[in-house]
Amino acid sequence: MRGPTTYRDIVLQRRRVLLVEDEESIAEPLAAALGREGFEVLTETTAADALAAFGRRSPDIVLLDVMLPDGDGRDVLREIRARSRTPVVMLTARGEELDRVLGLELGADDYVTKPFSSAELVARMRAVLRRASAPAPGEGAGSLEVGDLRMDLDTRTVTRGGETVELTVKEFDLLRMLVENAGRLVRRGEIVSEVWDPNWFGSTKTVDVHVSSLRKKLGDDPAEPRYVHTVRGVGFRFASPDELGA
Ligand code: CA
Repeated sequence: MRGPTTYRDIVLQRRRVLLVEDEESIAEPLAAALGREGFEVLTETTAADALAAFGRRSPDIVLLDVMLPDGDGRDVLREIRARSRTPVVMLTARGEELDRVLGLELGADDYVTKPFSSAELVARMRAVLRRASAPAPGEGAGSLEVGDLRMDLDTRTVTRGGETVELTVKEFDLLRMLVENAGRLVRRGEIVSEVWDPNWFGSTKTVDVHVSSLRKKLGDDPAEPRYVHTVRGVGFRFASPDELGA
């Protein structure tokens, strides 16, 4: 089973979700929505199957219904917590205030109340996964890997196919932000506020200048980039692990 210290390193791989929900009208559309968001989804409908799947498939995150046909989701949570720190988001029905409190006391990372939108749930999942991947005190920041690129966040070094790529401080921060959002659009304004200054409201030309030098250093052809794609008029998108064959 994966220990908590490895979360950082799996950040950019396809995340595996164990969805435990016996209600088909919830499970089916949710599994489809999660699939579209790039998650690998395993669906189970009973407590027993959920625990078996948890042990066998080492999911990165668990979505857990409280009322299961053969038992209580909170017991499943207790069993999971006895074995690992894998993030768990409880799916609770309306009015289950007590379940909510108890779930969090038992070590759930978050909960959503039915009915919920898949967009809301995905946002919660990403937040939970982000927290889970943050280094514990005294632990290194770890590394990010996508395709043949590897970023060591402690030494701030980057290698491509094992070869060191020399980056400036800002280029490194820019690459880190793009890689952390691999496969997703990142707007120029977001980049400026994270990598430069949150209060910046001037030109974002500097982003383009840095992207251009970053591409050069990564050996990326601006006309047909492999890593950093331009989303015209909006921002940039780093290639997803799938696109890079990771
Ligand atoms: Ca149920």
